[in-house]
Amino acid sequence: MTAAGRFAPSPSADLHIGNLRTALLAWLFARSTARRFLVRVEDLDDRTFADVAARQIADLAAIGLTWDAPPEYQRSHRDRYAAVIAGLTERGLVYECYCSRKDILSAPRAPHAPEGAYPGTCRDMPRHRARADRPPALRLRSDVTEYTVTDLLHGQYSGVVDDFVLRRGDGVVAYNLAVVVDDAAQGVDQVVRGDDLLSSSPRQAYLAQLLGHPIPVYAHVPLVLNAEGKRLAKRDGAVTLAEIGVPRALGQIAASLGLSGATPAEMLTGFDPAALPTGPWIYQPG
Ligand code: GLU
Repeated sequence: MTAAGRFAPSPSADLHIGNLRTALLAWLFARSTARRFLVRVEDLDDRTFADVAARQIADLAAIGLTWDAPPEYQRSHRDRYAAVIAGLTERGLVYECYCSRKDILSAPRAPHAPEGAYPGTCRDMPRHRARADRPPALRLRSDVTEYTVTDLLHGQYSGVVDDFVLRRGDGVVAYNLAVVVDDAAQGVDQVVRGDDLLSSSPRQAYLAQLLGHPIPVYAHVPLVLNAEGKRLAKRDGAVTLAEIGVPRALGQIAASLGLSGATPAEMLTGFDPAALPTGPWIYQPG
């Protein structure tokens, strides 16, 4: 399959200027390396809404991004995820976990256990001992604690791999599983997204190699922050495309990236990943 990059929004709210900037960067990275570009709606969670997804896609088109196949919806891939979980289960790589968030926080952990890692409480617990008062989550039985990925902006990045969740107790497939399975199915070999997801990439890369998929090259780009240094959000004021307007939004994004051009196609000419700013963009609406 031809190499591809992608933008994969969760349709929980309208895209803000920071999301649009990440989408534009994903498009620039893909197009400047002769890749296809794809859009995938990450709508596994029931808190997401179809009308939001439609507005997100319309906004991406409005700023001049183009994609090479109709957007895919994760909601329609549930059989695909179930088949992958069944395959991993057959290989003995899945176990049931009955821990609540509180159980995990209060569990004793090994002295050098990495912070934020699942302590492995249910890993070797015989099934009959499990508490039956809630449906279990499914976790991956991982045989490493760390994995290294290559990131175009962060270099070699090593991070925690624990027995992470593949399917939540409520039956919803976990983001880390869905993203790996879909990227592989769509031929995505370049993942550009916000750097809040950098620490998830070792888990995803580890799972990709377990499933026999190529590991994508990553570019985790700086987030957009508000004047207080917090992640930009709707309450910060005029931050969506409807509020800012297309030409102004594109102008602000181009300036923040040190690019010239009024459209993504024009910005492509001078695009050089090595020249991108490495710090966050502080955005002041108004
Ligand atoms: N859906 C995720 C988000 O909107 C991004 C997932 C990804 O790019 O891997 O934060």
